Amino acid sequence: MSHDTTRDKRDSQAPLRVAIIGGGISGLAAAYHLTKPSTNRPPCKVVIYEATDHLGGNAYTVQVDLGERRDVLLAQENTATDDPAPARPFTRWADLGVDDFNLDTYTHIAAIMKDIGFTAYRPLEDTASFFTRDGSKVLTADNELRHGASNPQVRIPKALDEAYQAFMRAAAEAVGCPHYHRYTVQQFVDEYRRKHPDVATLVDTLRDDLLYPRISAMYFVDDSGPEHMPLRAVMNYYILQEGFKSGAKQAPSPKRNYFVEGAESWIRCLAGWLEDNRDVSFIRNARAEVRATAGGARVSLPPQAGLRGNPPAEHFDKIVMATHADDALRAIREGVTQDIADILGRVRYTSSLAVAHTYAANLLPADRNAWRTYNVTIRKGTAMKPYRMTYVMNRLQNDAAEWVEDGPDGHPEIKTGPYNRFGLPQFFVSLNPVTPIPDEYVLRVIRQPGQTPGGYAKHFSEDEQRLPGWHAIDEADDRASTWFKHNVLDFNCLDAQEMLDSAQGGDHDNLYFTGGWCKGAGLHEECWLMGEHVAKRVFGEPGDDTHCFDPKATSDADYAPRGRRRPELSAGSRKKSRNQTVRRASMAGMLVISPASRASLRRDRSSERCAAVSPARPTAARARV
Ligand SMILES: Cc1cc2nc3c(=O)[nH]c(=O)nc-3n(C[C@H](O)[C@H](O)[C@H](O)COP(=O)(O)OP(=O)(O)OC[C@H]3O[C@@H](n4cnc5c(N)ncnc54)[C@H](O)[C@@H]3O)c2cc1C
Repeated sequence: MSHDTTRDKRDSQAPLRVAIIGGGISGLAAAYHLTKPSTNRPPCKVVIYEATDHLGGNAYTVQVDLGERRDVLLAQENTATDDPAPARPFTRWADLGVDDFNLDTYTHIAAIMKDIGFTAYRPLEDTASFFTRDGSKVLTADNELRHGASNPQVRIPKALDEAYQAFMRAAAEAVGCPHYHRYTVQQFVDEYRRKHPDVATLVDTLRDDLLYPRISAMYFVDDSGPEHMPLRAVMNYYILQEGFKSGAKQAPSPKRNYFVEGAESWIRCLAGWLEDNRDVSFIRNARAEVRATAGGARVSLPPQAGLRGNPPAEHFDKIVMATHADDALRAIREGVTQDIADILGRVRYTSSLAVAHTYAANLLPADRNAWRTYNVTIRKGTAMKPYRMTYVMNRLQNDAAEWVEDGPDGHPEIKTGPYNRFGLPQFFVSLNPVTPIPDEYVLRVIRQPGQTPGGYAKHFSEDEQRLPGWHAIDEADDRASTWFKHNVLDFNCLDAQEMLDSAQGGDHDNLYFTGGWCKGAGLHEECWLMGEHVAKRVFGEPGDDTHCFDPKATSDADYAPRGRRRPELSAGSRKKSRNQTVRRASMAGMLVISPASRASLRRDRSSERCAAVSPARPTAARARV
């Protein structure tokens, strides 16, 4: 790492000035950890730049209009009057992106919630159905079903469930073992099947009807199919989110919770707390550009509507990029070392369309008694792409439950009691709906004046707009739908994660990276851990650079800290990948490359044999809203 000129010039008592680019959970987590009071660190002043008008990124909540409703129950309670209940507008909220967390395993998130006094989360109904579109097969996972009947005819049969649990425990065990470090899901399934010939038929069934469909319903699925995904990437999700443990004897019972009033309410609370209690400020509608040079770190904003000329660039001691890897590459105008370009360029992105609606046909089991919180279509082969899933929001928000506010462990707990909100109109959120949803079934958003759609509605690049199913979501569009972008969790991404720590700081010790792509599956908890890690690195401390949740694995040589073991491409392909990334960025006028790198690029270009990959051709929209 090079000499820190900026730091040397600073008065040692002056606060460290850090710009964070990106106001999603990763940016907020970094801000929290950077500004945490400490006797060993200088005080830190943080400015968060967010491109859109609201914080949260992939956490995006909408208020939806469900028409008018006469609240009969309320009228019955009102004994003072015989008036029939008047019809009133009926609205509900829905998360289109991030919507739940497991209180048992998201220990850091749980601690910060406690710290800032955020308690607006409740247990969701953790049930699932797996079904074929033709209705020939329905399997429900009903362990957490508290209200309504679990029909034994469609419930996952006991033998299959036991085989599934045993398989998942073995897989959770395996990810802690270096032998399985480069295993795909399919390799593990095949090996397991060979080792357990007595249950081979059940393994086939669990693979086709439960495992692959479920992985295909995860937002970070690899578009080459779930079978090709790294085993540890997939199991990382199952361990954290669904509570599978190595060595456990029983099926997991995760404490999955949703955020009351949506994930954005949690983000708002956290952001407000940071503003009130720490030296953190926010600049919204600020798509930042970054220059990290020996002369210092600068953040500038492109000209804004209504303003003449460019606002002046702000100087900082350090910059933390808390965006997606490709957005970081676009935003950094100077300071991308070849290592950084190589790392960022390895991370691929995919997109998903999220729609809130009331249309059940094809998206949910034909038998409505088999509707569950998570409804996953059983698909096979190439039909498994892309990521698809439909949530019954009434179940996710546990309409049928009553609550005690403080359970024995201090967290809100569910109480079995009479139906509470049962019978309210059903509404759904589909991710990449398998069938076009007629417009009249798409819910409309109730938006504050001037509020723009969240997610990535306006900020896809031209390349990304060629993704299958793309259609623009207009600012004035009041349909409750948006696009999300997520990194594909393939081996390239896992390699990028492992290579990142040695590149943190950049050439001038002033450019750092965090974000969902940097750690595991990019779940909220992982973003939080990454925020803690990057804060340590900013202060020049060794971070906790582990990439797997099994402690056994972290002590193994295969998971040695960065710098000692680094995933390497062959020299040729490494050079090619780096060149393509740097060239794409430089052609778009986004990068300033040193003369030496430019000469090396020219040399490499002449010897490169492989033609540049041309972007996919636009295809007809698959899902219409
Ligand atoms: C559909 C979906 C559902 C998910 N559900 C869950 C879930 O239920 N539970 C869970 O734990 N995890 C879930 N995740 C994972 C989730 O993405 C991560 O937990 C987390 O939201 C990622 O946060 P982030 O801050 O890294 O990125 P993002 O949330 O994407 O935030 C990045 C921010 O950077 C901003 N930005 C980009 N470029 C610039 C620029 N140049 N200048 C300024 N700002 C910029 C963007 O506008 C954005 O706000 C889900 C992900 C997706 C896609």
